[in-house]
Amino acid sequence: MAAPTAGARVAPLTWRVGRLVERRTETPTAQTLVLEVPGWPGHLAGQHLDVRLTAEDGYQAARSYSLAGPADGDRIELTVQRVPDGEVSPYLIDTYAVGDPVEVRGPVGGWFVWRPAETAPVLLVGGGSGVVPLMAMVRARRAAGSRAPFRLLYSVRTPVDVFYADELRRRVRDDFGLDVAYVYTREAPEGWRGSPHRIGLADVNTHGWPPDLQPLCYVCGPTGFVETVADLLVGLGHETRRVRTERFGPTG
Ligand SMILES: Cc1cc2nc3c(=O)[nH]c(=O)nc-3n(C[C@H](O)[C@H](O)[C@H](O)COP(=O)(O)OP(=O)(O)OC[C@H]3O[C@@H](n4cnc5c(N)ncnc54)[C@H](O)[C@@H]3O)c2cc1C
Repeated sequence: MAAPTAGARVAPLTWRVGRLVERRTETPTAQTLVLEVPGWPGHLAGQHLDVRLTAEDGYQAARSYSLAGPADGDRIELTVQRVPDGEVSPYLIDTYAVGDPVEVRGPVGGWFVWRPAETAPVLLVGGGSGVVPLMAMVRARRAAGSRAPFRLLYSVRTPVDVFYADELRRRVRDDFGLDVAYVYTREAPEGWRGSPHRIGLADVNTHGWPPDLQPLCYVCGPTGFVETVADLLVGLGHETRRVRTERFGPTG
């Protein structure tokens, strides 16, 4: 990983105790958790944190979750997708209640970040919950009043699986220079042109930027998805160093 560059917060990584203050349902299997974390040092869009749970017998489990929004004092947001039979994600969705404590450590990551001072066009390509850090970038762009041209290409199983659906519709309407396109892998909405498919060259070519505009590309999702899209981008002529990736594989 590259060393953190100017602008990234370099704070000692210590466990802090946060509390859930609000939760929002994104899809039947995903929720946004709003936490208050006293002393949170701030973060950049694209960074993540570690969440650690401790059972009564002392057993601990830690997992990484992306920060879903730009820095906002002590308040942070995560969006968690339930992984069937998972240890941590079902607990965070079904059991973790408003007022309950949780340990968090972060922010983590200095390469998969977007800074509002950047003016280059940006291509965001997300698969499933991989959209979370990309949404943080969309929100950070809005919060900073940035005019950097942004395109989000979002691969999702079905329309009900889209995270932030209403907000994305609003942002496309209100945020000048932001475009959002979807690829549905299992079931497309009525009237959508084309049939469900896995993301391919035509999608990236149609909804991305030409390489000669030297866009910054951010790709996030399951490992196979990220590798496919990164290969497509490099094959289209994008410089490897401008294709930044984050894989949501199993952790812990
Ligand atoms: C940098 C980073 C950022 C992440 N950000 C997010 C985020 O914003 N939102 C989010 O929901 N998740 C995110 N993840 C994934 C998250 O860390 C956990 O892996 C996920 O919540 C599953 O944990 P679990 O304890 O429920 O499942 P586990 O008990 O770890 O796993 C249960 C089973 O599911 C499989 N599995 C584990 N993780 C995944 C996965 N991600 N996809 C498919 N199968 C899996 C395991 O191989 C195992 O068979 C991120 C991961 C990384 C590395």
